[in-house]
Amino acid sequence: MATLCGATRKDGSPCMGKVHGDGRFCFGHDPDLQERRTHGRQRGGENRATAKRLDRLLPASLKPTIALLFTVLEEVHTGALTPAQGTAIAALAGAIARLYQAGIVEERLAALEATTAPSDRKDVRWTS
Ligand SMILES: [Zn+2]
Repeated sequence: MATLCGATRKDGSPCMGKVHGDGRFCFGHDPDLQERRTHGRQRGGENRATAKRLDRLLPASLKPTIALLFTVLEEVHTGALTPAQGTAIAALAGAIARLYQAGIVEERLAALEATTAPSDRKDVRWTS
């Protein structure tokens, strides 16, 4: 069974992260890894090929939300945010993503309809 991290979260509860290597702390709490974490955060989302591909696909207005979600992930792990706060933020971000997705589908559908032969179809638009 994996050893649990020896650190205490900001809410006073013990960290449930698994110890990595021979250390006493999880990746999020190991003081020796502080520099690596900072460096990884700076590089993360910038250099990885997947992140680069996603970056091109994402609407610019969604990028800050993605960055926020990565921060929230780490803060829930270290205890700076409660799991409930993390869940609430993730739910709101999910709602935003679904609205964007609906907009993208609507746009594609309109483009498809524009390429089909003219018909007697009526333009159906979402109203607010
Ligand atoms: Zn920990």
